[in-house]
Amino acid sequence: MDDVVRCPECSNELKQGYIFSPRRICWSDSPDSIFADFGSETLIGDALLKVKKTPALRCEECNLVIFKHKKNNDIK
Ligand SMILES: [Zn+2]
Repeated sequence: MDDVVRCPECSNELKQGYIFSPRRICWSDSPDSIFADFGSETLIGDALLKVKKTPALRCEECNLVIFKHKKNNDIK
């Protein structure tokens, strides 16, 4: 992939890399604090044996990170 992707905020060239987390990463439409992640959408699931890495793009100027999550095939 050698297309240059630019930051939607500052138009800088984005750096390619990977994002990962030993815990799941969830999305919520609401800023409210919750006790658990019940009802929220899991973007990246918990690590089972190996930590999965998700391809991501990052702007080092404004600390924006863009990643495309997959549907959680391995999370029930
Ligand atoms: Zn930027």
